[in-house]
Amino acid sequence: MWAEPEAAFSSGSGDPSAPALCRLCPRACGAPRTAEKAAGLCRSPLTPRLARAAAHFGEEPCISGTRGSGTLFFTGCHLSCVFCQNHEISRCEIPGRALSDRELEETIRRLLDRGVHNLNFVSASHFIPAVTRVLARLQLPVPVVWNSSGYETPEQLRQLDGLVQVYLPDFKYGDEALGRRLSGVPDYPSVALAALQEMIRQRGPCQMDQDGLLTSGVLVRHLILPGCIENTLDVLDLLRDNFAPGSFLLSLLSQYTPIRALAESGQLDDYPFLKRRLEPGEWQRVWDYIRYSDREDGYIQDLSSATEEMIPAFDGTGLS
Ligand code: SF4
Repeated sequence: MWAEPEAAFSSGSGDPSAPALCRLCPRACGAPRTAEKAAGLCRSPLTPRLARAAAHFGEEPCISGTRGSGTLFFTGCHLSCVFCQNHEISRCEIPGRALSDRELEETIRRLLDRGVHNLNFVSASHFIPAVTRVLARLQLPVPVVWNSSGYETPEQLRQLDGLVQVYLPDFKYGDEALGRRLSGVPDYPSVALAALQEMIRQRGPCQMDQDGLLTSGVLVRHLILPGCIENTLDVLDLLRDNFAPGSFLLSLLSQYTPIRALAESGQLDDYPFLKRRLEPGEWQRVWDYIRYSDREDGYIQDLSSATEEMIPAFDGTGLS
């Protein structure tokens, strides 16, 4: 269940009192993170920080159901996507609230008291040691959903084996150069493919309950970016070529919207194609490509979902 601590953290100086150097995620940046001190490309301490914990109804129907998904939004991120729809928390403009193991457990229990269908850990990859510590001692009545960027190592994911029932990873790029340009990582497709293989190894084919809720398996998400339709088709080809039919469900997201704060501050000026929403012709091209393929099963959003209203308020809801 647990990786050897040395696999992810090491004290580079040989001094046992020195902060552990973190190599938890594929970025392996070796930052001196401590319980309180934020460091590294994920800008995070070891103690988890959250910006919101609430029932969420904006996920796929098999995740949200009728009572909502018990969503825990963690702050910080080891990717640096220029278009991030959650930029306020991923870049720690809203650094969130630090939760001890006990406080995280209490937050989980409050979500369960609301009758949510599952517990949905959003972007928690850089907090795996604390999250697995808490999950390992809980007997949960609902599935745990691991909602991630897909940019994770198999070693990281093996720590979740037996603790996570549903994997909900992004598969952002089939085009390596686009991943480098927009998210700052040199190897997104190969890393995400290896991660997806490990997720599928752990959970096998998707299983639904009698209400159509996903209880086990992998649901892969891809956000269709305007002006990047070739990248989307590359992703579809990669998934088709590397996995047997029925290995996972696929969800194509059309909700990309340029975040006003990013556009107004000039942060999208080098990426003019990201200053607009998806056009109907682009959406149609993807839909035509997917519906004539007999390899994937899943969901596609219509264009009406492209609004900032889809983004929840990161106001500390559910954290006290
Ligand atoms: S989890 Fe954060 S500090 Fe650790 S290697 Fe990844 S980016 Fe660096």
